[in-house]
Amino acid sequence: MEIVKTVDELREILKRYKNNSIGFVPTMGALHDGHISLIKRSHDENDIVVVSIFVNPTQFLAGEDLDKYPRRDEVDKKICELAKVDILFMPNIDDMYTGNDEVKVVAPAVRGYVLEGFIRPGHFDGVLRVVCKLFNIVKPTNAYFGKKDAQQLVLIQQMVKDLFMDINVVPCELIRDNDGLALSSRNVYLTQEQRTQALAIPKSLKSAAKKIGMGELDVSVLKALMSETMSGLNVEYIAFVDREFNEINKIEVKNSIILVAARVGNTRLIDNIWI
Ligand code: AMP
Repeated sequence: MEIVKTVDELREILKRYKNNSIGFVPTMGALHDGHISLIKRSHDENDIVVVSIFVNPTQFLAGEDLDKYPRRDEVDKKICELAKVDILFMPNIDDMYTGNDEVKVVAPAVRGYVLEGFIRPGHFDGVLRVVCKLFNIVKPTNAYFGKKDAQQLVLIQQMVKDLFMDINVVPCELIRDNDGLALSSRNVYLTQEQRTQALAIPKSLKSAAKKIGMGELDVSVLKALMSETMSGLNVEYIAFVDREFNEINKIEVKNSIILVAARVGNTRLIDNIWI
């Protein structure tokens, strides 16, 4: 595995792979089995795999956890090596952001500013900006993103379409821990007690899916059930959207997503289920 720190060096190395398919997995590090599942899929479907680890400052709002976001560089290097990553790209902030007066990418006015974008205004501008830069550096054939960050995935798919980027965005399944909690780098912030409380999130999603399986498609009924299951948590939103992220009142099977964001202590968790 080659560990690359600068954009120039990466571009030089990638010249060797002009005739190969390149699978790309962008991450912010503190790697877990969710990330590893993306890397594995990328490995199966491409000649080489590039993983990036970059805690992107422009997607954090003032007062968010940028400074304390978990950084595990040495462990992450080992994980990538074991997962047979070919190139691990770990750039510095100055290398990714070259000046104060940059051209930026702006998230769509509606879908970029609802749900996550409403609670974290500007977050998706930062996400799309860094992903656009990374795509232009790596020029991947296929890029792998988790359904865990459903809104991010949909917005990246839209950026690729709208800006005519020649990249195939591959949605990957959400990976959970044995107890059902969606894997997230932020789970390390949770105390044991908070973790137990947080299990109400996947439980509520599961109970809604079960009800849907029994024929209940009315969103208000499902929402009430989920609110009750999560009554002990500080829920930011329970949302029902179609796969294009338009709000829905009735579940349409194979075209719906149920999303939850909740705070447990100071930790913000998101989870979802694709119906
Ligand atoms: P992050 O490091 O949190 O920015 O995530 C990097 C990539 O891993 C994104 O595409 C995420 O959607 C994906 N990811 C994070 N957690 C999970 C998970 N539990 N299951 C599947 N993919 C995930």
